[in-house]
Amino acid sequence: IKAHNLPEDPHYVPDSKFYKLEAILRPWRIPQVSSALLKMGIRGVTISDVKGFGAQGGSKERQGGSEFSEDNFVAKVKMEIVVSKDQVEAVIDKIIGEARTGEIGDGKIFLIPVSDVIRVRTGERGEQAERMTGGRTDLNSAV
Ligand code: ATP
Ligand code: GLN
Repeated sequence: IKAHNLPEDPHYVPDSKFYKLEAILRPWRIPQVSSALLKMGIRGVTISDVKGFGAQGGSKERQGGSEFSEDNFVAKVKMEIVVSKDQVEAVIDKIIGEARTGEIGDGKIFLIPVSDVIRVRTGERGEQAERMTGGRTDLNSAV
């Protein structure tokens, strides 16, 4: 995690071996984001259709002048990606590069420490469970 991306306090994000990136993005940008992630060796991704409001929904609400209702929620896709610590910044940069339009409603990324990863099939934990065949670590170690 890049020091210059964090506030002065080094404990701002609790130190962890793994982090989850939870990105709330525009649905129509998802194909572009996921193919870029695939190219960089990200093999494990979970997405869900969600609805939310941020500045984008808020401005609609002000225009309508009505109370907050479900109509103000905007369709988004939540993309969840668990990666090792050293992969966090590259994934953030990639998501921004592929998802950003510069307009209100581009979305947000939340960074969450993850205590452990367990592969159900094998019972592996930690690094062994987080690594994936053909994943980023494999790509980087291939000469
Ligand atoms: P196996 O080798 O047993 O197939 P795997 O590590 O490849 O294990 P899957 O069982 O294929 O994992 O993963 C099941 C689902 O878990 C995926 O479809 C995806 O939604 C989610 N997933 C797996 N790894 C990650 C990850 N690192 N980040 C986010 N979601 C993940
Ligand atoms: N860190 C894993 C690897 O290097 C990839 C994680 C992921 O695809 N979400 O194999």
